[in-house]
Amino acid sequence: MAKTVHIAVVSSPGFSHLVPIVEFSKRLVKLHPNFHVTCFVPSLGSPPESSIAYLKTLPSNIDSVFLPPISKEQFPQGQYVGLQIQLTVTLALPSIHEVLKSLSSKVRLTALVADVFAFQVLEFAKEFHALSYFYFPGSAMALSLLLHMPKLDEEVSGEFKDQVEPIRLPGCVPLLGVDLPAPTQNRSSEAYKSFLERAKAMVIADGIIFNTFLEMEPGAIRALEESVNGKIKLYPVGPITQKGSNSEADECLRWLDKQPPCSVLYISFGSGGTMSQHQIDELALGLELSGQRFLWVLRAPSNSPSAAYLETAEEDPLQFLPKGFLERTKEKGFVVALWAPQVEILGHSSVGGFVSHCGWNSILESVQEGVPLITWPLFAEQRMNAVMLAEGLKVALRPRFNEDGIVEKDEIAKVIKCLMEEEIGEAMRQRMMTLKGFAAHALKDGSSRQTLLQLTSEWENLSEN
Ligand code: UDP
Repeated sequence: MAKTVHIAVVSSPGFSHLVPIVEFSKRLVKLHPNFHVTCFVPSLGSPPESSIAYLKTLPSNIDSVFLPPISKEQFPQGQYVGLQIQLTVTLALPSIHEVLKSLSSKVRLTALVADVFAFQVLEFAKEFHALSYFYFPGSAMALSLLLHMPKLDEEVSGEFKDQVEPIRLPGCVPLLGVDLPAPTQNRSSEAYKSFLERAKAMVIADGIIFNTFLEMEPGAIRALEESVNGKIKLYPVGPITQKGSNSEADECLRWLDKQPPCSVLYISFGSGGTMSQHQIDELALGLELSGQRFLWVLRAPSNSPSAAYLETAEEDPLQFLPKGFLERTKEKGFVVALWAPQVEILGHSSVGGFVSHCGWNSILESVQEGVPLITWPLFAEQRMNAVMLAEGLKVALRPRFNEDGIVEKDEIAKVIKCLMEEEIGEAMRQRMMTLKGFAAHALKDGSSRQTLLQLTSEWENLSEN
């Protein structure tokens, strides 16, 4: 019988950082039933219901362990979400060390895999004689930015957002400074310092496992391989996304069953994206003006776009819609409070477009279902993702934000009609369908499967010795 290969995985807080690393673990143990994964989960405050429910569904060769929660009271109000995630992991380090020590006293650990926000964890790998890997849950372009960041920090003077020339990451679509991730927009901020610290730490790993695939980002992946020049091993293994759960009875899916094929625009801003009251009003009126069918997952307004990312909302968001909106649009629209089964929705034949905040998981899920997008970036690296989709892959439309950062109703109606009714939108849908085919092949027996097999055989060989 094959020897058991033990892998320890450390996620970072937040549903969309937990899911990709756990889905990666699921793929590992499915491919190799002799692999055993122990997944440690830090959390800020008590773990969210969504994470608890999700971790209950794991196969028997994956154990999950919630670490003692970090108290929210220690954090200043209004701190940038990336900093909160980072600080949670930093404060959880002593308990992470303890659980790893206990695990390695019972089994031989082959590899330690940490989400990129948990970078400090990899410093423990040597002590436990394990190989160390980052799990980077974003694009090759975002990874390339992180790896080039220390050099950019030295070479670029002044704020990135004020640069006249675009930033040219090898093999990637050029990026304006304003489209770089949110923490880079103010170089004297704590968020920037922490981003740079993470960037500098990337070189400590034996390898980086990342969630994209060759056919989606060929230029970026090849250029990354050249730039690391074998010093860090790179493993693009995506698209790794959540499987749809069994939500047969879900009301919005039943509503979709009654709509014509490819006619509904799905609107969602990830696990915690929010917008201002003014923007909710404009979006609602724009949807109405467009006359298209829509399914909108709505959250209560906030002036901070990541307000709900690590918080559970309590207010009923539907009360924030313009007066009479639900009544006027009841033939064409469906508004869901807070959460909807996104993977099933994107896979439903009635869905023809996706207004998305461009979180990387949402993008991959859209690619896997062949649904073109309208980009509506809110925070983190979402603006970069939007540029890649609109200008690089040409599978998305990018609405114009006015000088106050608002997308006005006429602009919204215009881009929606363009995506859902016009030839430009149809061409994007065709390109997405091609990408969908590439994604399926990459996972089934193409590039990503081969990469994963290579990684697992390296781990198996090591554990044999
Ligand atoms: N999601 C969902 N239902 C919702 C909102 C989000 O299932 O109503 C899932 C979505 O399918 C994706 C994840 O939450 O897997 C969001 O991840 P993403 O990277 O797109 O955005 P983030 O939450 O990090 O901003």
